[in-house]
Amino acid sequence: MNIVLLGPPGSGKGTQAKMIAEKYGVVHISTGDILRENVRNGTDLGKEAKTYMDAGKLVPDELLINIIKDRLAKPDVTGGYMLDGYPRTTPQAEAMDKILPELGQKIDVVVNIDVPDDELVKRLSGRRMCKCGVSYHLKFNPPKKEGICDVCGGELYHRDDDKEEAVLNRLEVYKTQTQPLIDYYNKAGIIADINGAGEIPEIFDEIAASLDKL
Ligand code: ADP
Ligand code: ADP
Ligand code: ZN
Repeated sequence: MNIVLLGPPGSGKGTQAKMIAEKYGVVHISTGDILRENVRNGTDLGKEAKTYMDAGKLVPDELLINIIKDRLAKPDVTGGYMLDGYPRTTPQAEAMDKILPELGQKIDVVVNIDVPDDELVKRLSGRRMCKCGVSYHLKFNPPKKEGICDVCGGELYHRDDDKEEAVLNRLEVYKTQTQPLIDYYNKAGIIADINGAGEIPEIFDEIAASLDKL
């Protein structure tokens, strides 16, 4: 089962992806995590991506297309995957539609998580991340021990792009560049719409129910 997770920044893609990956045995592929790792390691890609990311802008399509091409060619994807954060533009979706048949793959479902803007702002301003990719929230989903990741013991940090100015930018970018993908995948008839405004376990059940129908 190959899944795309679509939704605005803060809609819970990463949180749900971790749970789905565990339940269904698919690999979680987060382009945000891949980019942040490159930034931390000071790679050429990381250096190029950082200025865009800090400003809450999208990293250029050709870089992301190369990342996803390499990632989907790795052997661990044969048991299925969940894409979190890709595609984010129409050219990225079109490029993937060319790459997938070459790899003998297809997307089975696009899970589209919808959350109102005011809730997104609250979630992102209180989000704390670990470099292992797990995210927490100061109020809505706190770690067991303050400032420390439950999973790996790493120290939590506040992403630069989760600060207010970049957040407003990212919400705008989502509306203009990513939202058109809902139509794109609706035409393909593979969208599952999820109301992402409730509690984390309820949303997970809703997503699982739509995957179990496939
Ligand atoms: P979010 O919390 O908004 O879902 P991500 O961790 O997915 O954030 O992405 C963080 C940043 O990484 C984005 O704001 C963007 O700069 C960059 N990025 C991640 N995925 C993509 C992509 N598919 N295309 C362009 N930029 C991307
Ligand atoms: P995304 O990957 O879509 O940007 P995250 O999964 O990182 O989103 O979630 C954004 C923030 O909101 C995190 O702080 C997370 O702990 C919190 N969060 C996720 N799902 C919910 C929910 N259903 N209710 C409240 N807070 C949530
Ligand atoms: Zn961690």
